[in-house]
Amino acid sequence: MSDTAASKPMKGQTPLMRQYFSIKKQHPGTILLFRMGDFYETFGDDAREAHKALGITLTKRSNGAASDVALAGFPYHSLDTYLPKLVRAGYRVAICEQVEDPKTAKTIVRRDVVEIVTPGVALRDNLLTPKQSTFVAAVHVGRGSRADAGPIAGVAFADASTGEFKLAEVPEASLASFLASVAPAEILCIKSRIPAVQKAGFDRAIITPLDDWVFTADQARETLTSHFQTHSLKGFGVEEYALGQVAAGALLHYLTETQKGLLPHMQRLEAYESHAYMMLDRQTRRNLELVSSMHAGEEGSLVSIMDRTLTPMGGRMLRQWLVRPLRELAAIQKRQEAVRDLVASRSLRTNLRTLLRPIGDLERMVARACTGRASPRDISGLKEALLQIPPIREGLERASAHALDAIAHGLEPCPDVVELVSRALVDEPPAQLKDGGVIRSGYHAELDELRAISTGGKDWLARLQQTESERTGISSLKIGFNKVFGYYLEVTNAHKDKVPAAWIRKQTLVNAERYITQELKDYEEKILGAEDRLIQLEAVLFSEVRDHVASFASILQANAQLVATLDVLCSFAETAVEERHVCPEMHEGSELDIEDGRHPVVEHALPPGEPFIPNSVRMDADTEQILLVTGPNMAGKSVVLRQTGLIVLLAQVGAFVPAKQARIGLVDRIFTRVGASDNLAAGESTFLVEMNETANILNNASAKSLILLDEVGRGTSTFDGLSIAWAIVEYLHDTPRVAARTMFATHYHELNVLEDQLERVKSYRIQVQEHDGRVIFLRKMVPGGADHSYGIEVARMAGLPGPLLKRSRIILNELENKPPAPVPMAAEPQMNLFAPLAPAPAPAPGRSPAVPGLTSSEEDVLDGLRRLDVDMTTPLEALQRLAELQKKLSDT
Ligand code: ATP
Repeated sequence: MSDTAASKPMKGQTPLMRQYFSIKKQHPGTILLFRMGDFYETFGDDAREAHKALGITLTKRSNGAASDVALAGFPYHSLDTYLPKLVRAGYRVAICEQVEDPKTAKTIVRRDVVEIVTPGVALRDNLLTPKQSTFVAAVHVGRGSRADAGPIAGVAFADASTGEFKLAEVPEASLASFLASVAPAEILCIKSRIPAVQKAGFDRAIITPLDDWVFTADQARETLTSHFQTHSLKGFGVEEYALGQVAAGALLHYLTETQKGLLPHMQRLEAYESHAYMMLDRQTRRNLELVSSMHAGEEGSLVSIMDRTLTPMGGRMLRQWLVRPLRELAAIQKRQEAVRDLVASRSLRTNLRTLLRPIGDLERMVARACTGRASPRDISGLKEALLQIPPIREGLERASAHALDAIAHGLEPCPDVVELVSRALVDEPPAQLKDGGVIRSGYHAELDELRAISTGGKDWLARLQQTESERTGISSLKIGFNKVFGYYLEVTNAHKDKVPAAWIRKQTLVNAERYITQELKDYEEKILGAEDRLIQLEAVLFSEVRDHVASFASILQANAQLVATLDVLCSFAETAVEERHVCPEMHEGSELDIEDGRHPVVEHALPPGEPFIPNSVRMDADTEQILLVTGPNMAGKSVVLRQTGLIVLLAQVGAFVPAKQARIGLVDRIFTRVGASDNLAAGESTFLVEMNETANILNNASAKSLILLDEVGRGTSTFDGLSIAWAIVEYLHDTPRVAARTMFATHYHELNVLEDQLERVKSYRIQVQEHDGRVIFLRKMVPGGADHSYGIEVARMAGLPGPLLKRSRIILNELENKPPAPVPMAAEPQMNLFAPLAPAPAPAPGRSPAVPGLTSSEEDVLDGLRRLDVDMTTPLEALQRLAELQKKLSDT
């Protein structure tokens, strides 16, 4: 990134630049922010990168006998502005501070990197989003314990801002989906694996290569056991994940390097049982718009409807739950039971939500307490959070659900912590320790004494000013303070002659003179000494309190998890009540029966006065396995497909669903294929992407999956596309391995004949009504196929020019009246291949055989004549029509 020749040490350099280059060499791949007095400076390539990313001025610095070096910097107090910009632009940033007082430094000031901030490892508040986790992941691929199985990926991920640290193992083929569900900001791997990880990597993640030795079993075990101070990893329940451990060890190694060993809040390593969760691949996560919508970030996504959490950690957990639906019936029902209790009792729900609100980000406050970054307000906030625990436990006594009971029993009020913080800290401490006034009076005798001297000293000075003024007759006498000679007596020139001989003159101003006296100096020493000591003592006492709080970290972290869980369950209940969601009945069978289902987001986005029309969907692997959904453009096909996916997903998350009622047979995965997009950078055209996504579904789906195909085969010629779509339906129907419940929305009306040929295929259409030549969308899905797409009508709604639309109608008319095209044949004969196909469109014709040179109105008249159904026209109507046509001609 920034380590080319320009950044390398050279002969004849200044000592400062020598120091810079030696530090830079130890931190390759980072932008080094080098503290020089009141500035952070960057040099060489780093300076050019910083200039580009931050828009700061690029200059040059003299480098002794060596050539000049590029320089760009910013004032130290702007770090909070510039650091997030660099990190968001994908840079890793090493912050190098002066680690000794420049006043006492004998030669050049000692400097050291105190922290490395990266997109995946950030603890500073302004780099974090309250309701979003920031994950760094590590990937290590190898052979699993079963010789017959394919390569396995060990994956570890951690959020350094909270201490969450998990490991998992997944088949390498599922790595991309797994990473999509974690959505890390940074991925660590060995250099040779970068291309593979890049392919599997999550969209926005940066990839950081680490040395191969970091990813070895012995090294990983050593890193992990020495961090957790254990002999083995048995206590964490991760023993059987050999590859996951290697990834976890490498990740911890990286965190230790970036945080300079400051990781006391990383207290646990947990196994992420990947088989317990549904893996959603990247496109499904995107197509269902779970945590961000295609166009407007979180707005318009599922999370925007579902998130009614009141604590940041609850918000983070809800986002994780939404992208990791459960697969086990019992686990889903446990959550459902809790939500049901909370829905049933409004008073229980509102009481708990009132208590949750003041808790704040307990999880990140604990992490800050452990890493010595907690402010007085953090510690006080932590106490406030703990104060909510007894009433929450009390409130939960009224609930019967096991999950709520477990939360009540798990929560620890930590009275010792509350007592200590209440006794030690003032009720509303300042944001910064340096502002003083953090420790409560009465907590520490020496501190009280020093405070008395400090405030008493100020009173003494005021008294001295008054007595000296009276004694000398200098009415304007003032006592002041400056850094050069401390306290002084200031006498205006008018009173100069009254100054006693014992006063020592220190400074002459235009209008006044400043003096000191022995008495003043003696007192000054006492006051200033007390103030310095006061600041020091307060800092010591505060850090003792903070460290004591930190010693409860694992209990506090467990509390934070339980509070987050309760917050999410309450949020689900709140959404269920406000959005009229119902509890779905879950079962292990393959029936999916949604009565009057709604799209949770679209029903909110409709303009006022436009009601959302609910639709029922029934599927069953044995009878109604594949639903072919046809209907005009804009009819609502995509909406009904996606709402089915979202209802199933919400049900398996444990939430209620937008429907009148629902019975959901568990699915193991949800696959979606929607719309057209290309990946030109990866050399993939629109159609290739479409086929890649379809191949992924057909290769990975099982008979327990749910597949939503919103158009397949549109990116190529009509015949190719239709043939592929046709064969896909047959394949899904006839191949037991992938005989998944499927909804297939399509404009290939020809596919409708499959309903008669394949036992478990059912055709549905979304109804429209034609009125006065216009289409009215009824949005209702009913049995039977559609035979029109009304695309030209939708083109009219979009504002395509009138003459163009007229011409399209003529072409369409002709195409539809052409004799059927030859029947496409599949390569291998199958049961249904010999069945007749519905008429397929013929190749597009040239212009209609209209007389050349006609105006569009004349063409219109001809078209009118062509369309006139003479058999159905009365003589009077015929005359009227004739008059209209004549008028049209005379108007031109
Ligand atoms: P196309 O074939 O052009 O992709 P489509 O049939 O997939 O169209 P959708 O994208 O599902 O159409 O729906 C178009 C619009 O119609 C939606 O954006 C929404 O505003 C509205 N709509 C869809 N379904 C409903 C419904 N059930 N109730 C009310 N409005 C709906």
